[in-house]
Parts: sequence; C-alpha cells; structure tokens
Amino acid sequence: MINRIKKLYAHMEQTNLEVILITLPKHVYYLTGFATEPHERFLGLLLLKGAEPFLIVPALDEEAAKQQSLVTRIYTHTDTDNPYHVLKRLLPETLKQVGIEKNHITLQRCEELMEVLGDVTFVDVAEPLRMLRANKSVEEIERIRIAVRLVEQVLEEGIRKVKPGVTEADIAAELEYLMKKAGAAPAFDTTVLAGEKSALPHGSPGSRVIREGDLLLCDLGVSIDGYLSDMTRTFAVGEVSERAKEIYGVVLDANLQAIEAVRPGTPLADVDKAARNTITGAGYGPYFTHRVGHGLGIEIHEYPSVHGDNPDLLNEGMVITIEPGIYLPGVGGVRIEDDVWVTKDGVEVLNTFTKQLTIIG
Ligand code: MN
Ligand code: MN
Repeated sequence: MINRIKKLYAHMEQTNLEVILITLPKHVYYLTGFATEPHERFLGLLLLKGAEPFLIVPALDEEAAKQQSLVTRIYTHTDTDNPYHVLKRLLPETLKQVGIEKNHITLQRCEELMEVLGDVTFVDVAEPLRMLRANKSVEEIERIRIAVRLVEQVLEEGIRKVKPGVTEADIAAELEYLMKKAGAAPAFDTTVLAGEKSALPHGSPGSRVIREGDLLLCDLGVSIDGYLSDMTRTFAVGEVSERAKEIYGVVLDANLQAIEAVRPGTPLADVDKAARNTITGAGYGPYFTHRVGHGLGIEIHEYPSVHGDNPDLLNEGMVITIEPGIYLPGVGGVRIEDDVWVTKDGVEVLNTFTKQLTIIG
C-alpha cells in the first residue's frame, strides 16, 4: 500500500501538483488499509509534496484508523467541528492546485473546500488512480479469488432451495443469507429472475413464483476483505423450450469466444466483438443489449469498460468480467458471467462453477 502512495507522489512530481486530497472511502482503503463508511462525515487522505501523508477521520473512527491505517499521522474532527478548518490548519498558506477525485467530490464539497482554500484550481486525479487499480498484484488476485470461491459455494447451496412454489425473492434472500452467514456482504443486490422476467437485464426479484419450464437467471457477488466477485449463471427449471436451449448454447459460445480473445495487448473492443460476432452470427445481435464486461476489484464496476468502441489495451494484472447475454422479450433471457484475470501470457478464468445448462428444481 505504501508503494501505491509512492506512485501517487511520483505522479505529483511529474505533473507539478502540490496536494492530492483523496476522499472516496474505497480509495482511502486502497491506499492506507483503513476501511470505513463515513456517510456524510468528512474523510480525507492528504498527500502533500515533500511531506508525510496524513489522514483526517471522524473522531469516532480514530481507534479503527490507528489499528488499520499504514498512514500513521491521523487527525480527527468531531460532529461539532468544521472538518475544513482542520484541513486548512494542516495545509500550506497558499495553494494553487489541489488534486481531487472529480467523479466523487460533490459540488457542495467543492464549494466548502474553496471557502477555506481560496482561489485554487482543482485537477482530476482519476487517471493515475485508475491505472494503479487496474494493475492488480498477486495478493489482490488472491482476494478476488476468495470472493469468487465464496460466491460459488453460496450459489451451489442456494439453488437447492428452488422447489415448486418458491419465489424469486425467496431465492435471492436465501443467497444473501448464505453470504452473510459466511461473513461476507452482498457486493450488490442479488438478482434472481424467472421465466419472462429473465429477459430484463436489470430486473429485480419479486413475488414471481418459479415454475417448471422457466429459465432462472441468478446474478450475484460478494464483498469480503474489501474485494468483490460478480457472477451470473442461468439455470433450467425442469425441462425448458428448444428456443431456451438454443439461446443458452449461443451465449455459452459467446462467453468462451470472448475469454479466448483475452490476453495482454488486445484492444478491449476486440473482446466485446468476439462475443458480439458470435451472437450476431446466430441471429440474436439485437438481443445482446449491453457491453460484454467491466473491470472488477474494490468496486463492482471499475476501469476498464469492455465495450466495442474501447481502443484501450488489456494489460497484465487486470481483472474483468465476461458476461454476454441474450434477452428475448416475453420469452426469457440467458447471461453467463465469469471473472477473468489477464495474466502474463493470456487469461485465467477465476470461476469454476459449471457453465453447462443445469436442470434444477
Ligand atoms: Mn453480475
Ligand atoms: Mn458484472
């Protein structure tokens, strides 16, 4: 983690930036090891050119920060303090530029900062952070692997509860219960969609009873030790239609073709195209309505975006999802999603859960 902070200091050197203020809690965690959710309270990691970094945390978090953070200069503010006054005291008198996360700092925060810092220019530091995060260490891969293994165990056990009469919501609740019992948290709201509802890529589980002949789409992930997994499997509840089997086969082929395309140096667009060409070739192009995948790590969607217009190249150390789908309105949908690691020579699929169409219920 200290290395990560060093890389940001190097970026400050190169770009002549005097200060970086990090406020996204996930970034504070990524850079210091201290994990917290401050809600509306101020949390900031300050990197000052030529000085040691320091943290400003809510007073109630002081003890936890002392225990977890590798940055050991810690200042606090209580609920009656103005945290920006604490900040002001610790910064040089005159500042021209401050590096911030522009996609995280609200306009209100920005105005509060300007009030204490005067006439400063804000510079976005999203790019160096994105590049750092995309280049994952072996230790980070291990954490993602643990999250993948856990979610697969949860799915394996959870789908055994699919019986006549149970609803989508019952299964979603069961899956999240299993995650929490294992000491993890859902990485996002668990999706369980049956029959015609599986054709809604962003539908939410409800009172729909799962019936014989349904496709059952389950999209779930866990967060454990700060790292996430994200997987989708689609099951057949009893015997499903020929059409359902056909689209399943096409999506599986698209998933495999896209994985085949993953290796360092390949444009991200080519990975999307590998899946899309397969689906389009089978006549279902208009029913694959989203990009093939996204980066995964400390956030569920992070850099890079794996879409057909992205010329950026895959690099060793990236973790991305591969999740093609076909959604036939009124009929049903299939998505198969794996988490894959871009290795030195190619790719390693972190998921081991079967991708063959499995009959349940
Ligand atoms: Mn997913
Ligand atoms: Mn995903």
